Amino acid sequence: MFCPQCGLEQPRSHRFCPACGSRLPTELVPPTGPKVTRLFHSIPIHPADPPDAVLRVSRYFEEFELETAEGSVRIPNGHVRFSMWTGDRAACAVSIPDDEADALVRFLGAALPWRGAVSRV
Ligand SMILES: [Zn+2]
Repeated sequence: MFCPQCGLEQPRSHRFCPACGSRLPTELVPPTGPKVTRLFHSIPIHPADPPDAVLRVSRYFEEFELETAEGSVRIPNGHVRFSMWTGDRAACAVSIPDDEADALVRFLGAALPWRGAVSRV
């Protein structure tokens, strides 16, 4: 990857350019491995919402075998898994196929205020 500001070549692991300090667009680098995962921190809205909940989103590109204490599980490719965590426990999880994930991306992108009218309830 090359720094978009100063052009210095960077290792894939860098998040910031050591020469100019710019954030590197790591989201544009093709992922390696069977999946990518990102955590999204919540904000409590309802009084019953936990203050420290995290949404974990994993997109699976390759099928692989996962070894667990209960045995091995085959994880299919072509889906996105959402799990809601409080502390070290997942409260619930759901997976959606890639085409639904792409529809979610379009939905969230269209909801940005500077991108035009979106009905708000
Ligand atoms: Zn730079």
